[in-house]
Amino acid sequence: MSNLPTPKPPIDPAIAVYWSAAAEGRLVLPTCTDCGLVHWYPRPFCPDCSSRNIVWTDSDGDGEIYSFTITRRGQGVYRDSSPYVLAYVELDEGPRVLSNIVDADLETLAIGQRVSATFDIVPDEDAALLRFHPT
Ligand SMILES: [Zn+2]
Repeated sequence: MSNLPTPKPPIDPAIAVYWSAAAEGRLVLPTCTDCGLVHWYPRPFCPDCSSRNIVWTDSDGDGEIYSFTITRRGQGVYRDSSPYVLAYVELDEGPRVLSNIVDADLETLAIGQRVSATFDIVPDEDAALLRFHPT
């Protein structure tokens, strides 16, 4: 668990598989069985070919920082969490995920740095929030 807030996500029943896996600390990625695209964000159809033939493939959650910013003035539930890192992580499978980098040295964080998935449990929900930490 990081020290960031864990606001309740909007849980669409069509992607309950994703949220249940996250609650177990597993990252699953929607993969189109027609064109092979592994995509993000989780949704029950392919954003490339519109197929609804989606399977959920296990990911080891490894990737690298594609881009990031250090937020020094948080808003809303993140107001008291500054500074924190907002980043695009490019997973080894290809998709880019907008998330947070946690447990990181803000002075040495760098584009291209290797990171791994971690999950922050959302209390009273069958869900956890995907975040990343340096490896
Ligand atoms: Zn497709």
